[in-house]
Amino acid sequence: MFLMWILFLFVISAQGQDNAPPGDADTKYATNFIANRHWPDGKIKYWILPTGNSASWLIPKVIDGLDFLSNETDYAVVFEKPAPLDGSMGMCGLTEWTYYPLIIVYVGNRCKKGLLTHEIMHALGFEHEFTRRDRSKYVTINCDNIRAGREVQFDVCYDCVYTKDPSWKVFQDFDYSSVTMYSSKALGEKNTETITPKDPAKKELMGKYQLSESDIERLKFVYGKNYKKPEQVNEAIKNLEYCPAKEIEMK
Ligand SMILES: [Zn+2]
Repeated sequence: MFLMWILFLFVISAQGQDNAPPGDADTKYATNFIANRHWPDGKIKYWILPTGNSASWLIPKVIDGLDFLSNETDYAVVFEKPAPLDGSMGMCGLTEWTYYPLIIVYVGNRCKKGLLTHEIMHALGFEHEFTRRDRSKYVTINCDNIRAGREVQFDVCYDCVYTKDPSWKVFQDFDYSSVTMYSSKALGEKNTETITPKDPAKKELMGKYQLSESDIERLKFVYGKNYKKPEQVNEAIKNLEYCPAKEIEMK
C-alpha cells in the first residue's frame, strides 16, 4: 500500500511538468514558423534568372514536390524572385528577406534538391527547428564548437510563433528529422559537434535534408484553409541561449 502511495505521488508530480497533455489550456506550442512571413494569397510563382552553371533549374522540381499544398489550400506562396548568385559560393543557397515581400532565394552551384528544399522552407516562413524557444528540452547547443562568425545562426528564434492556440499542436513534437534541422556537426570548428540531441538516438535523424512527415503536416496547416494568425504568448525567453560571438582572427 505504501508503495502504491509512492507511485501515486510520483504520477501526480510527473503530470505537473511541462509536458501537459494536448488540449490543456496552458499548453504552449513553440514553433519554427514566423507568422509575419506567411504568404496570404496567390499561387506559387517563381522567376528563375538564367545563371549559367548554378543549380537554379532545381527550383521547379522542389516546388513540384510541394504540390500536396494545392489540395489543402486556395493559396500558397509567392516566390517573386528566386535569383541566381555567383557560382563561387561554397554553399547551396541563402534566403534574403531584406526586400520583403520580394523574397530572393539564391541558388549556388552546390545546391542539391534537399538543400534547396531547406532554403525554400525559409522562403515559406520556416526557421531552423533547433531555434525553437523550447529547444533546450531537446538539444544542447555547444557554443564553444561553433565556427567564429556563425554563432548568430544558433540564436533562438524570437519571432517564431509561440502560442496556446490548440490548432498549432501540429508543432508540438520537436522534429529532429525536419528538413530545417542541421546535422549535429553543422558549422562546427574542426569537425566538432555543435548540436547534441538530448536523446543520442535522434542524432542519425538530423541533417537529412528531406521533407519530413511533420514538415508536410506543418506546411499543410500553415498554408491550409484553417490557418489563422495565432495570438502569441507574451512571454520573454527565460534562459537566453545565445552563443556569444568569438573574436575572428584577422590573417
Ligand atoms: Zn537554413
